[in-house]
Amino acid sequence: MPPTATYEQIKAYQQQVEKNKITPHGLGPCPRCHLESIFFKLHAYRERRFLVIVDMLVKAVFCTLVRFKCTDCGKTITSYPDFAIPHKHYSRQTIEGFSRAYVEDDQKTYQDAVIIDDAVAERAVSGRALAPSSIHRWIGTLAALIIANEDALKKSLQENSAAQLCRHPGPIQIPKKKCKTSNRRHCLLRCRWFFKIQGFLKISFHRVCNKI
Ligand SMILES: [Zn+2]
Repeated sequence: MPPTATYEQIKAYQQQVEKNKITPHGLGPCPRCHLESIFFKLHAYRERRFLVIVDMLVKAVFCTLVRFKCTDCGKTITSYPDFAIPHKHYSRQTIEGFSRAYVEDDQKTYQDAVIIDDAVAERAVSGRALAPSSIHRWIGTLAALIIANEDALKKSLQENSAAQLCRHPGPIQIPKKKCKTSNRRHCLLRCRWFFKIQGFLKISFHRVCNKI
């Protein structure tokens, strides 16, 4: 089965939104003025369409995201549930799972990366198959998130005793055939580094999206 969020997970979050159970407390401080998130105020609700994979069919599920506002500087900040990545419709589990499978396998091409059990997931409505270029784009998105939060990730590593034991697991390398440009190489290296440390830190991109 391809990695995905489930319909039930998304609906459970929607119920939490409707019961006003989503608080800003798990968010990082304001990125502009560093005010602690407990002082954020509810700002707005925004409906988003998410894509989940059920029996190799990509289906849409709607869910509301909550935006908070910093009471000091006025910056608005979205609280991302476990299954959401900013500006992406596919679930966090799908984006992270397919990207990880590509990044950690030296032999895998983007064409290989969309295939699960000899099949490619396709849209339930249009029949359009998951494109290899989607995985290429997802890796760029994940790398940008890692780079934007690299200092916080390194701090978490320093504070984690289990991760301390594995701080030098050997150099991380990416085969030349997987990247044409140095920029792309940097993206793949950052993703590979993240996937290597995330088991020790026990974090997913959920924490990274909410600023750790
Ligand atoms: Zn602020």
